[in-house]
Amino acid sequence: MTMLEQGTISIHTENIFPIIKKWLYSDHEIFIRELVSNAVDAIQKLRMVARSGDYAGDVDQPEITISLDKENKKLAISDTGIGMTAEEVKKYITQVAFSSAEEFVQKYKGEGDQDIIGHFGLGFYSSFMVAQRVEIDTLSYQAGATPVHWNCDGSTEFTMSDGDRSTVGTTVTLTLQAEEESYLEPERIKQLIRTYCDFLPVPIKLDGEQINKQIAPWKTSPSSLSKEEYLEFYRYLYPFQDEPLLWVHLNTDYPFVVNGILYFPKLRPDIDVSKSQIKLFCNQVFVSDNCEEVIPRFLLPLRGVIDSSDIPLNVSRSFLQNDRTVRKIADYIAKKVGDRLKELYREDPAAYVNSWKDLGTFVKFGSLNDEKFKKQVEDIVIYRTTAQLEAPGEGDDAWQSAGGMTIDGQAYTTLKDYLERNKDSHANRVYYCTDEVNQATYVQLLKGQGIEVLFMDSFIDTHFVPWLEQTYSEVKFLRVDAELDETLIDKDKSAEIVDPGSNQTRSEQIKALFEKVLKKPNLTIRTEPLKGDTPEAAPPAMILLPESSRRMQEMMAMMQQQLSVQLPEDHTLLVNTAHPLVQNLLSLSQGSIVQTGGPSPAADLADRLCHYIYDLALMSQRGFDANGMQEFSERASQVLTQLTTMAMR
Ligand code: ADP
Repeated sequence: MTMLEQGTISIHTENIFPIIKKWLYSDHEIFIRELVSNAVDAIQKLRMVARSGDYAGDVDQPEITISLDKENKKLAISDTGIGMTAEEVKKYITQVAFSSAEEFVQKYKGEGDQDIIGHFGLGFYSSFMVAQRVEIDTLSYQAGATPVHWNCDGSTEFTMSDGDRSTVGTTVTLTLQAEEESYLEPERIKQLIRTYCDFLPVPIKLDGEQINKQIAPWKTSPSSLSKEEYLEFYRYLYPFQDEPLLWVHLNTDYPFVVNGILYFPKLRPDIDVSKSQIKLFCNQVFVSDNCEEVIPRFLLPLRGVIDSSDIPLNVSRSFLQNDRTVRKIADYIAKKVGDRLKELYREDPAAYVNSWKDLGTFVKFGSLNDEKFKKQVEDIVIYRTTAQLEAPGEGDDAWQSAGGMTIDGQAYTTLKDYLERNKDSHANRVYYCTDEVNQATYVQLLKGQGIEVLFMDSFIDTHFVPWLEQTYSEVKFLRVDAELDETLIDKDKSAEIVDPGSNQTRSEQIKALFEKVLKKPNLTIRTEPLKGDTPEAAPPAMILLPESSRRMQEMMAMMQQQLSVQLPEDHTLLVNTAHPLVQNLLSLSQGSIVQTGGPSPAADLADRLCHYIYDLALMSQRGFDANGMQEFSERASQVLTQLTTMAMR
């Protein structure tokens, strides 16, 4: 072998290898990504040369082979790419590669490792992070080229001589440092290839076996992928997870290159919306397990892959957030996601409604966070509603033609349709329920009078309702327990006889009785006869909470991070004067039951019943604290004891 040349790599820096070696300590493994990417590039270059007619050899069976030699601590990566002449090795490896590595290290040695997104740019010299010696054996595709052997022991000195490679391509052989021998384990190499190079478009072989998937689904055309293939890819990326609800295939070349597949997962109420699970790729090479800086915050719950060669990777994360192209890419992705949701709403409303529980959280979160996205999706936000389907079949049709949707017997509507449907009975007033169980009484009452109630009972709705109010300023949003709707009052029974003895109406007497017994200064007692099919249909009493004081209470609770919201002190007890219990109670308190002498047990029972009725109303409001709960059970047993005693007399 004739010695061709001996030289010094750089005149700028004494020795950058110690810096390279120390730098990116935790990320030594990326050398494999860099070397394999170079090999893929070389293969693609040769393909292009062949296409242009400048190379007549075979380019149809490209391949990258990794060989491990434990005994000699050698790891070799061999490709069937374009190869290099001695001149090119000198130029690309000794000058270009070195200077780009040097520039890179100079630029970033001050920055924390975490701060740089992809660590791309270190290139070929990253091999010195793990190798004590690096050798290149290469044969250029050019006619008459001679093979070259390049050898560098990690100092700035290198030697170059004739090599013995007989096929076109390049082999890079690393003699690993003692503490880096884990890279001689086939399992470790397989795992690294799977992480970084799985989707590179060239077969990568180890011991004769292909160890990468080779096909990147996001780079293929959407029409060529079946539903099952999308799902399979999802399972591959996120094993053991529920199936995604739907996906968006991103595919654009202009004005920037973005490919990717984003999946909508089923969202748990406790999702961490600050952590991204979308994997970032650049030209099919894995870059990062998250892309928090690249996509808008509200898209973070999505999963999948984004691949773009227009996202600068050799920069700090904070730079990335302010990069104009990155911001445009983010807008593009958000728009695509919105489009996909609208498409599903239009084309498969049943699937849309079916997935709403999970999609809804996402759509609402997005609307709250992003003005553009909000505009895009505002017409496809839907709510579960109490609107009744008359008869299944026929009623269904009528409901659907009025813009409604049904799934599993539950009806859904948009706000626009709700307002339109109810414009005669309660124009611009929206009744909503936040807790189906605890507000059942109220919902029932409104429903009974033909008033449609929307359910806003998901965890995000606490933030969503105030936002709706801002957005639709002409519409009043009323929680079902906020205020008594006029239609619920039985006007016929309102006209009342005045009791000649006290000169009070029955209503006034009931009000006075409750005020006297309950003795709560901040509690307002209101008496009204409530409508119902039977006198017992409406409850004997209900708590009403003015929207404003309830909101205040909720805000306080949120600020103090309380889990449950206490009932505000000033609330209203609405007593239903049409209810037989209330009417009996009044007679009882007036001692109309024959008494047997001594302290009046009837008046005593009436007192207890007043408390009891208030308790029941509180209960449907979840208004008990521990103390209240205990008093309630005590009172319940007293009332029942007294009733049984009286019944036995
Ligand atoms: P980059 O890949 O970013 O250009 P590198 O330091 O990784 O930087 O490589 C420098 C140059 O060396 C490459 O641009 C290429 O011309 C040449 N090179 C590196 N690896 C190979 C290879 N396996 N086959 C052919 N040329 C290569």
